[in-house]
Formats: sequence, C-alpha cells, structure tokens
Amino acid sequence: EVKDWALSRERYWGTPLPIWLCQNRQNQISRFANTGTNIKNQKFCNNIKVIGSLKELEKLSGRKVKDPHRPYLDKITIKCDRCGGKMTRVPEVIDCWFDSGAMPFAQQHYPFENKNLIDRRIQFPADYISEAIDQTRGWFYTLLAIATVLGYEAPYKNVISLGLVLDEKGEKMSKSKGNVIDLWLMTAKYGADVIRWYFFTINQPEDPKLFAERDLDRVVKRFFLIFWNSLVFWETYQKNAKRKTSAFAAPSPKLWSVGDKATADKQNLKLKNKSKNILDKWIVSRLNTVIDETTKLLDAYQIVAASRGIEKFIIEDLSQWYIRRSRRRFKPVSEQLLSKESRQDFEAAERTLAWVLLETAKLLAPFIPFLAEEVYQKLKPKKAPFSVHLV
Ligand SMILES: [Zn+2]
Repeated sequence: EVKDWALSRERYWGTPLPIWLCQNRQNQISRFANTGTNIKNQKFCNNIKVIGSLKELEKLSGRKVKDPHRPYLDKITIKCDRCGGKMTRVPEVIDCWFDSGAMPFAQQHYPFENKNLIDRRIQFPADYISEAIDQTRGWFYTLLAIATVLGYEAPYKNVISLGLVLDEKGEKMSKSKGNVIDLWLMTAKYGADVIRWYFFTINQPEDPKLFAERDLDRVVKRFFLIFWNSLVFWETYQKNAKRKTSAFAAPSPKLWSVGDKATADKQNLKLKNKSKNILDKWIVSRLNTVIDETTKLLDAYQIVAASRGIEKFIIEDLSQWYIRRSRRRFKPVSEQLLSKESRQDFEAAERTLAWVLLETAKLLAPFIPFLAEEVYQKLKPKKAPFSVHLV
C-alpha cells in the first residue's frame, strides 16, 4: 500500500524545500494571509521555480550561495521571469524521512565525491538494514522510494524487520498502564549479553516479544551458567597441566589486520598435537560442524537458528556429553598413581576443552560480545590478537 508522500513539513529546521514562488501568489496561499483581502479581484502571477542545484540558484539569483541552510537560503530571492516580481522560497522544509532515505547517497556526498562507490556498486546496495516493523512505511520505504526515483535498484539486499517489545500479556508498554520495563534496570541486573541472547533466541526477529523478566532468568540458568561453568571446570583442572608453552600455535601479529579469506585462515590459531581419544575427536568434529552451520546461517541472516544451534552445542554436546564423559580424564585419583598414559590422556582432554571453549568464544563474539571476550581473555595465547573481536 503506497500512498502519496506529502514531502513538505511546517518546521523551522530541516532541509529547505527548493521551491521559489512569485510573491503575488504567495500572498494567496500564505497561512498569514489577511482574510479581509478580496482575493478574487487580485491577479496572481502563479510562477513557480523548482531549483535543481546550487549552481542554478546562483545563476537565477545572481548571488553566491554560501550556506544552503535556513535562514541564509531564505534571504535569496529570484526575479520573476513572468511578471518581474520578487520570488522567495516557500517556508516549508522537507520531511526528515527524506534525509534518512537519501542516506546511501548522502553519506558518500554523492555525486560530488565517491562516485565509484555507488556507480560501481562498491558500497551500494547495502547487504542489510535493520529497524523495527513500524519502519515499513518509514525508513524501509523512503530508502526504496528515493533510490527508485533516482533510477537505482533497491538500496538494500535484505531487511531484518524487528517485532515490537510488548508486556507479557501482549499489550503495548505505556506509562499510564504502568507496564513499562526499565531496560537499564534489566541491564544492571542481568547484563547486556543476557538481554541480547534472550532476543536472539526467544523467537523470530519479526515476531513481537512478550517480555517477562523470568525469561531472562531462564536464559541465565539454561545457557550462561552452563557455558561459564564449562570454563570454570577447565580452569580448575588446567593447573595440573605441566606444559610450559601454550596449547595453541599463535599466528604472527603481522597477520592480525583484516584481510581476505586466505589471510583470515592464516590468522586462526591451530590446535597442536591432535588427540586420538574418541571423545576429543568427536567434540572437535561437532565444533567444526557447528562453526560451518553458524557461518552459513549468519550469511543467510538466520539469526535465531544460528544462536539456538550454538546454545544446543554448548548445553548438550559440550556440557552434557563431552565434559560429563571426560570427568575421569580430568580427575586422576592421585598424581602418584598417574601412569604416563593417563597423564597424556588428561593433557589431551585439557587441551581439547580449551580449544573448544576458545573457538566457541569466537563463535559467540557477534552475539554476546562481553562474555565472549571474557572467555577469550582467559584462554588466548599471549601472542594471539588481544581481543576476540579482532580474530
Ligand atoms: Zn511573477
């Protein structure tokens, strides 16, 4: 349903509407018009000029345009080519949604600069845009309308349209109803990452979120504590490992900069001395599958499936199967009774768990940046990039 877009707004601040009217006519339409005037008996010029560029305005007015904003632009007048009268700019500005919709071009100062970025499709169209569902007739529309009018294709390839956050009964939050949830209070109580994970996993992005605080508590117990306790488990037993060097081969710092796929592969840490234990082989295989699936899902903007997949991996495969089945490998009866074989097995398990946690932190980094960083900092080799967000 596309309705006509009433482009003008009666505001002071905004992009000036580039329309000049012969003042005779302006007397007629001005909302300040003296109602006592007998309009019928007057002859109006009706001349309108829509200005297409600063150059055109300078040519018609004979003046240099130093500042294209109000109030400076309003002082520029044009001599009417029909009646010789004075033409002035109409007082209205353009709807600010026009400015938002012009973003793909305006941010590049197109066409005055960076022509290649748009013309060669280097930064146009955008891979995706995201806003709440109420922007369907707002920003999503104005972006599309302006690009279409200018003769371009859609300015975005994907739209992630988000549903609104409602109260747990499905009603809109409002101060008068007293059902507003304070986001800052929730953030202070649970942390921003818990709220993020709640939104990623609760339902599809476009579905309304019937917010109940107990769901945040569930996210903490169901997922965050399981992941955190897996790290604590590793920390408890890794002290028994006698290795002097890191379990991982760190990449050269020269390779940290963002580059192509080949460079990115070289940046990855490598697991030294791969274990022959069936549990280790299994969890590394599961991890690689989850990395592969998550990458494909995120490339397709399937955020819910991606986050739920990681969660399932951590709860079921890592915690309930791998760590539970490997407990005896981590907890030898006593140091003295430890055979060379079981020590090797312990070190293989310890190294594998560290590796899986480190790789999982990388996988989680776009979703829960703070916890992912915390886990990465505890596991990363000294020479590795200093943040999980740089790997
Ligand atoms: Zn005129």
